[in-house]
Amino acid sequence: MLAMLAEVVNIDSGSYDKSGVDAVGSRFMRFFEEEGLLATIEPNEQFGNAIHIQLDHTPSNERPIVLMGHRDTVFPKGEVARRSFRVEGGRAYGPGVVDMKGGLVLNAFVLAAFKRFGGAPAPLAGLITADEEIASPSSRPIIERVGRAARCVFNSEPGRPSGNVVTSRKGGIFLIFEVTGRAAHSGGNFEKGISAIGELAHKIVALHKLTDLKRGITVNVGLVQGGQSVNTTAPSAEGQIDLRYVKGEQRQQMLAAVQEIIDTATVPGTTAKLAIKGEFLPVTSTPEADALFQCYQAAASDAGLRVKGEFSGGCADSGFTAGVGCPTLCGVGPVGGNAHTTDEYLEIDTLVPRAQAMALAILRLPADVGQT
Ligand SMILES: [Zn+2]
Repeated sequence: MLAMLAEVVNIDSGSYDKSGVDAVGSRFMRFFEEEGLLATIEPNEQFGNAIHIQLDHTPSNERPIVLMGHRDTVFPKGEVARRSFRVEGGRAYGPGVVDMKGGLVLNAFVLAAFKRFGGAPAPLAGLITADEEIASPSSRPIIERVGRAARCVFNSEPGRPSGNVVTSRKGGIFLIFEVTGRAAHSGGNFEKGISAIGELAHKIVALHKLTDLKRGITVNVGLVQGGQSVNTTAPSAEGQIDLRYVKGEQRQQMLAAVQEIIDTATVPGTTAKLAIKGEFLPVTSTPEADALFQCYQAAASDAGLRVKGEFSGGCADSGFTAGVGCPTLCGVGPVGGNAHTTDEYLEIDTLVPRAQAMALAILRLPADVGQT
């Protein structure tokens, strides 16, 4: 597992780097071929291809258990040259080592083990996607299609530093808003001007007031730009918003509240428009998802791990399978932390027991999970 992890970490695969993302995919496809599994590509022109994995060549009408993961990272080309895979003090380091190339290696070995030894109570399948770190523009419809057909999904995002898995996640929406004003010389012709930046400032204050930590709602304007020159009233300005929420019904409420702020001009004469740039759906608790978690928790205990379910404010592809009603468990990859930073690490001695926990959970999957 470590040897394969080293190989795939040492290939740059930022979300927009199609050739790098596909190179990581090719390495996994070679492994699946060697192990006798069937791996097929669903091509994409802009982003990396999606990869579907099956144990058998024979089609089945039964709903499959799906092991899911993404192989893109947040890191630019050249990151591997700066800090390639390395092991130090029981931890592995390198770009994407735990988010989530480690989880993909874990999935691959579990799939190969079931191919070799059998025993799965339903067809097993794998899905490796290409663009999770930018909210899965190409993968989302594929993930939703696979989720609708699946009995359940294990998404091997990193286990929490505590070792816990993720049973619920926030939903998140990235929005962009553009404000239009009117340019005028701010010395000689000030009265003719309408400042888009002035309006942007009012909107930022109003947007941030939507944050309600008790309800788990946060609104962050994380990017702004605007203006033409210091001595011109700004003809245009824009901001980008990260909106997070917990429950499905909050999505519409919060979007409406944001829209109202965008539509309301404090600086007379300005106009503004709003657009969604990217989106993740929340993972919320359901009886079937709870049953899946309890099955995993007992399996993990037999693999020597004490695991609890945790809530995460971070978003992931698991929201898309949960969103189409598929029992989903997230964060079942190897344990690690500091994702998206140069200090990202993976606890090496969790690779095998976490794989064992997943395999046991598959073997013992309750008969009533995901059959409807
Ligand atoms: Zn991830």
